[in-house]
Amino acid sequence: MQLIAGIDLGGTAVNYTLIDLDGRFLIEDLCEHPARSVEGPDVCLQQIEDGLAIAVQRVGATLESVIAVGLDTPGPASATGVLSARGSTNFVHPQWAGFDLPGNLTRRLGRPVCYLNDGNAGALWGHFNIFGHTPATSISAIVGTGLGGGVIVDGRVVTGRGGFGGECGHVLIPTQRIAGLEHVDPQCNCGRIGDLESVCSLTAIRNTLLPTFLKKYPGHALATLDVKDAAKKVRGLAERGDAMCRDIFRAQAHALGLFFDQMVNTFDPDALIVGGGAIEASADFQGWFLAEIRAGMPVQREEQADIPLRIMPNGDTAGARGAAIEALRLASSRS
Ligand SMILES: [Zn+2]
Repeated sequence: MQLIAGIDLGGTAVNYTLIDLDGRFLIEDLCEHPARSVEGPDVCLQQIEDGLAIAVQRVGATLESVIAVGLDTPGPASATGVLSARGSTNFVHPQWAGFDLPGNLTRRLGRPVCYLNDGNAGALWGHFNIFGHTPATSISAIVGTGLGGGVIVDGRVVTGRGGFGGECGHVLIPTQRIAGLEHVDPQCNCGRIGDLESVCSLTAIRNTLLPTFLKKYPGHALATLDVKDAAKKVRGLAERGDAMCRDIFRAQAHALGLFFDQMVNTFDPDALIVGGGAIEASADFQGWFLAEIRAGMPVQREEQADIPLRIMPNGDTAGARGAAIEALRLASSRS
């Protein structure tokens, strides 16, 4: 048996998946091992290796059967996976600065390790889930603490010159067109005002949407909570039909609609895909959210009105799955 491993390295956990050479997944659920990344690269790489051994054991295989590895991490990192010299939120130990994660893991595991950032890996999984190996073009937006995502053109991830391709969260959108945000300048952590992440992320709910919409609903129960705790309750309340929380999610959906409209005009894609914690909810809520995204899009030309808008499945394993698919593609092109 020959296997490809997908390894999703986050700040606290490593998540694994394994696929065979036909792209079939041997691990369907979450398979996690502690990352211990705060203790630096040496400890963390050992954790990655140990966790991989446990994962292959789980499917009744051995490490020898793993012929290639796909790795994904949160950025910022170069297109080849060298972590930013200026550090990153998830890799705080000083030895991580400028660390060549795939290069070091390749040497350690003795097999090729390819790299994607977590947004691009998730986008590739969302794409593969719909189109398989057939060449197609899709745009994914993944709504979490921030907004990740990616652009897949003819089946290939657009990583760009420096690894910043598909940074959908920092694309500017006309936020003043969104109901409730007409007179607001939403700030993003990246320094931009009015990009997609500044409206469509958990951070945006906390920093902008909740303070803005609470003014419209002054007696709302969330007004009594600390804004950090209140922000985390918005999705659940929106799902249960709370009017203010629906307004907040409608604003996020309309932001996605404006963003996707730009992508439709740039790429004329085969699908638009939404994923992330924000929409890991009931099918009813997902359906409402997709309809609101459509409602937020300007009227489409007749030929493009039927571009499918889809939900990305398996949110918490999307990164590992996408990384494995990229490794499989590279392994197939080598053989
Ligand atoms: Zn930004």
